[in-house]
Amino acid sequence: MSVPVRMDDGQVRVFTGWRVHHDITRGPAKGGIRFHPDLDLDEVMALAFAMTVKTAVLDLPFGGAKGGVRCDPTRMSLGELERLTRRFTWEILPLLGPDQDVPAPDVNTDGRVMAWLMDTISMARGERLSGSVTGKPLAVGGTAEHAGSTAAGIVTCVRATFGALGLPLAGARAVIQGFGKVGAPLAFLLHSAGMRVVAVADVAGAVHNPGGLDVAELARHVAATGSVAGFPEGEALRSGELWEVPAELAVPAALARAVDAEVARRLAARVVVEAANGPTLAEADPILHERGVVVVPDVVANGGGVTSSWFEWAQNRQGIAWEPGVAADRLDATMRRGFAEVWARAEHLGVSLRRAAHVVALERVAEAIRVRGLFP
Ligand code: GLU
Repeated sequence: MSVPVRMDDGQVRVFTGWRVHHDITRGPAKGGIRFHPDLDLDEVMALAFAMTVKTAVLDLPFGGAKGGVRCDPTRMSLGELERLTRRFTWEILPLLGPDQDVPAPDVNTDGRVMAWLMDTISMARGERLSGSVTGKPLAVGGTAEHAGSTAAGIVTCVRATFGALGLPLAGARAVIQGFGKVGAPLAFLLHSAGMRVVAVADVAGAVHNPGGLDVAELARHVAATGSVAGFPEGEALRSGELWEVPAELAVPAALARAVDAEVARRLAARVVVEAANGPTLAEADPILHERGVVVVPDVVANGGGVTSSWFEWAQNRQGIAWEPGVAADRLDATMRRGFAEVWARAEHLGVSLRRAAHVVALERVAEAIRVRGLFP
């Protein structure tokens, strides 16, 4: 749809936005909203499909959706961003609602944007619909666990993979691409799990310290300068060198298409856990598989985010907040169960974890379609 927005200089700019429902057989459409200058319909469709697979593989009662607006939020004022969000929400309003389609944050969107969505939907419908959006601020029915939940789910997958491969976690080295909403909390969690985070990259640069980076110091440096580049307690890496850093674990936690055939040939780690959506190109997958690199695919690995969205939605609908710790325990259990099922299926079929995840998920969707039958 077209999303006209009055900019601060008085001009009207018309942005393009999309909301795609890939499948709604198993439950309301579920998936994030992203603001990015390169967004197009193909990408939104692919990401909506990935959400169908993600919710099905973890057996969450949702379908798959994705949405977004092609814009560069870094060049927009807060007011412009709010007007864009509200007009976009208005355009897709007929699709939305706690039982129809429940958006969440994604690239360049956050709790603030979700509060605007929730308010726009609630004002339009004349009732406070907190369960219409997840990843909200605490003041409007959000949960404390949501912010770090993708990172927490990644750690569950790292533990499960290392356990299945018989690799010790303590002292193992990790490299992370991205130090944002997922990469930053992940660095802390991996460090607390006893791993050494030896290299971190972001859009502006990369740092390496074979003894392990001081994650808290790095976070302070990023807060002060906006990037990991120039962090004094490590050496700078050139872009692309990150993947060659000797490590047991590599986590792409930035945008899509980070791991191409070239990176797949050079990648040093034994295990890749995909925190971003679509970080590995199709051409890279067989190369990694042949080299014996174990890849935990995005549709399993980063499912912690949508799992905690499910918990937020459930609490909104129950009208009661769960006791502290309950959501974290359920997140860990949901991720472990999903991982174990995919791992077992991969072994049974002799295929990659990515293929096994799609088998498990699409069987579940197909079964729902079969038992529901054809209307009328
Ligand atoms: N944007 C997140 C994802 O890609 C969360 C989606 C959601 O919670 O609906 O999985």
